[in-house]
Amino acid sequence: MFPAPSSLLAPSRAFRGPGLPINTTDSRPSMKIKHHSTLCFLATAFLSVASAPAYAAALGYTDTPMLPGGKWHVHDPNRSQPTVVKPGTPSTQKKSGKAPSDAVVLFDGTNLSKWRTGKGNASGWTVEDGTMVVPPKNTENGGDIWTRDEFGDCQVHIEWAAPTPPKGDSQERGNSGLFFFGIYELQILDSYENKTYPDGQAASIYGQQPPLANASRKPGDWQVYDIAFTAPRFKDGKVEQPAYITVFHNGILVQNHVAILGTSGHKTLASYKPHGAQGPLKLQDHNDPVRFRNIWVRPLKTIE
Ligand code: MG
Repeated sequence: MFPAPSSLLAPSRAFRGPGLPINTTDSRPSMKIKHHSTLCFLATAFLSVASAPAYAAALGYTDTPMLPGGKWHVHDPNRSQPTVVKPGTPSTQKKSGKAPSDAVVLFDGTNLSKWRTGKGNASGWTVEDGTMVVPPKNTENGGDIWTRDEFGDCQVHIEWAAPTPPKGDSQERGNSGLFFFGIYELQILDSYENKTYPDGQAASIYGQQPPLANASRKPGDWQVYDIAFTAPRFKDGKVEQPAYITVFHNGILVQNHVAILGTSGHKTLASYKPHGAQGPLKLQDHNDPVRFRNIWVRPLKTIE
């Protein structure tokens, strides 16, 4: 990078000519000559810089080896530039953060318009103090809720808090769940000093894969899941590629590109049943008043 012209004219050490120190307080004749030489040098430098073509680093190369697939060179300048996304802001325990600019916001603390019941009705879950809460049993339009939008490969951010004071043990304490396609469960559970079967604790792939660590915060504290989900692919009625999931729980990697075995179930071995390329997300009503806030999704597409 070239410096701005104003910095070229400033009497800084960086742009003095060799052996041409600048001393603006010296009035001796020899110093005046040196001043004159210095100014000439700076003017010449400025003019030569101003008239030189703008410097531009190479945008890429096409004389490099081809990448697998035979479409792009290594460092190819002709590939699409990634979309510009304005990052969101992180949450604190007291204040909910903001979603990135390209996210589909599923709950921002105000209403449940993005959610429906199994029958397609408006959700009966409670909205209070900027949170959505699993309602008491038998609440009209309570029960599990699904997103009205459907998603395939996606990034999901969700914050939840287990009820406080805690009640119950094992699976009966702060139980909910986030289900991709409405059927693949990432478990939500109060796993703070609460033992249960490991493939059923918080951040487990329910009935299949325990998390790599128990990163649970205490009941009442906000907890965060950041998830990368790759939808399963089916061909001719069979699984061509399983779903994959990567999960960070409160910033800690707990599921690292785990292949999902299929539809989650209780005391059953998960297996796949073919479905479409997109499906809803589901939140589970397990009769515990788990709270949620700041839920958003970024549908993902593969960059060519
Ligand atoms: Mg659950």
